[in-house]
Amino acid sequence: MERQLSKLKMSQYHGFTLIELLVVILILSILMAISTPRSLQAVADSQRKSCRANMQTIANAVQSARVRAGALDYSTLIAGGVTATSLTDFQHIPVCPAGGTFTLSMGHSGDNSTFKVSCSYGDHGTFEAGEDAR
Ligand SMILES: [Zn+2]
Repeated sequence: MERQLSKLKMSQYHGFTLIELLVVILILSILMAISTPRSLQAVADSQRKSCRANMQTIANAVQSARVRAGALDYSTLIAGGVTATSLTDFQHIPVCPAGGTFTLSMGHSGDNSTFKVSCSYGDHGTFEAGEDAR
């Protein structure tokens, strides 16, 4: 009797079994396997969008600098690169959130009447402003 009572008390306070713990760990690992790639993809998407917005800001500053200088094309600004000395609208040059660097180059026109801003990081690509070099 005493033994049965003691067994009953023990069964009331028992912890998790190894199988229960393994099932919980398995469920958690499945959830992590599903959510981690999605969250990493979301971070990469937001960095790409932020980088594109920064390239557009730089393109606006380049166009503004050309108009202010009264230059006929973007050759001087392309040669000057993305620096605070060349683009005086900036106190701080926007940076790529993924660590890429921005460069200026000739646009699709093949002469210096257009330009594009490129990011060196992965698939961040380029931003080309419209053909308004006249
Ligand atoms: Zn970038």
